[in-house]
Amino acid sequence: MSVINLGELSITRAGEMLHSGKVSARELVSMYLSEIEKENKGLNSYLEVFSDGAFAEAEKIDDHLKRGDQSLPLSGAFIAVKDNILIRGKTVSASSKILENYKASYDATVIKKLKEAGAVFLGRTNMDEFAMGSSTENSAYGPTKNPYDRERVPGGSSGGSAAAVASGLAVAALGSDTGGSIRQPAAFCGTVGLKPTYGAVSRSGLIAMASSLDQIGPITRTVRDAETIFNIIRGKDILDATSVEYPENKINKLSPIIGIPREYGLQEGFGMDKDVKDKFYEAVNIFKEHGYNIKDVSLRHTEYALAVYYIIMPAELSSNLARFDGVRYGLSERSATLLDTYINSRIKGFGTESKRRIMLGAHVLSAGYYDAYYARAQKVRTLIKKDFENVFREVDVLMTPTTPTPAFKLGEKTGDPLSMYLSDIFTVPANLSGVPAMSMPFGKVERDGKKLPVGIQLISPWFCEQSLFDAGKFLEKFND
Ligand code: GLN
Repeated sequence: MSVINLGELSITRAGEMLHSGKVSARELVSMYLSEIEKENKGLNSYLEVFSDGAFAEAEKIDDHLKRGDQSLPLSGAFIAVKDNILIRGKTVSASSKILENYKASYDATVIKKLKEAGAVFLGRTNMDEFAMGSSTENSAYGPTKNPYDRERVPGGSSGGSAAAVASGLAVAALGSDTGGSIRQPAAFCGTVGLKPTYGAVSRSGLIAMASSLDQIGPITRTVRDAETIFNIIRGKDILDATSVEYPENKINKLSPIIGIPREYGLQEGFGMDKDVKDKFYEAVNIFKEHGYNIKDVSLRHTEYALAVYYIIMPAELSSNLARFDGVRYGLSERSATLLDTYINSRIKGFGTESKRRIMLGAHVLSAGYYDAYYARAQKVRTLIKKDFENVFREVDVLMTPTTPTPAFKLGEKTGDPLSMYLSDIFTVPANLSGVPAMSMPFGKVERDGKKLPVGIQLISPWFCEQSLFDAGKFLEKFND
């Protein structure tokens, strides 16, 4: 067996190696497990490693390959799974104390599909509690560290998944994205992260945060791997009424017209970091030099996106989290009355950020404020969606920085929730409007003597993921 650098392995490459007999799935699993054993203490990327299950799944793949069966499309996918996606029989806690000992009774649809395609699940990864956060510091099980600089955050809420892929502790991972939780950590950790079109991927078996915004998606080392996973997990699912049949043959032009939305902090404001901005324009110039048509465009209502998100998201979240009452799931603080059981279980089980957002959500939905906040936010959400409809009459793909800054320091924003919320400024509009968006790494900037990755976000019309993959694969060739 030749030396394999796990930090450089892609699904495609691992698949080729397995098919050519260079290495067995069992051997790869044991390499991953020993690397995790060595590195995870410092990173806190995995909350639990599925050693036995991973070996059993690997053996099945080796059997298939021995029989000459080449039909498994995902042999080579050694995957980490965010701790809010259900795997039958495994603990799934959403990184919350309230679900600490909760075991999933069924497989999420994405897990079922990946299993059938030959994926191996290495473990479950750390996240902000119930996916609320941008740094993975809101986990009840301690923060994850950024592999590029362990004094910095990996982003969030899928920080454990992004850090696992970036540090070679998994070939790919699943995350969930409600306002940027796949793309922002992907950007901070130098990986690819895709938030699919709303409805393209089933949410069955995803612990809900805000149901009209949530999507599951891949975090990978290459654009091609993101495409591979997406093509397996997409499609209508009878268990999720908001999922739809994925329309095939959606246009994809070789040289799409690329729009640069002027509102995305590119002129002034939003705390846009100069080095990130320079990298962004370097990427724009690469497209330009290769004959792509670049257009300055406007998404007029962008400035309201964050405010709208922080009304709609907590409203849906407070409703979704009402089910954790100390009776039906997880932690239960049995008390003298039923009401006290509810109250004490929730006081003990939820962390500070969850409590803050539950209260915000209950407030914006309350009788006196519903029209002023929730109903108004829904109207502005429609305007934001219309901006995208209009702009996609002119261009095929939009390009923005994924985040205004590179990864920030651990503890830097924990005392100031509003500044934490601002790191989602470029990612939330895609969730509000449902369009697909992908972050991909492009170059690095230096901070405190460390090189930190920069993320470029590509956004396309509904169900045009293929345009993201095509443009992404082109730009990827220039990433250093
Ligand atoms: N960081 C955003 C928030 O805290 C997004 C979260 C997410 O996408 N799950 O709401």
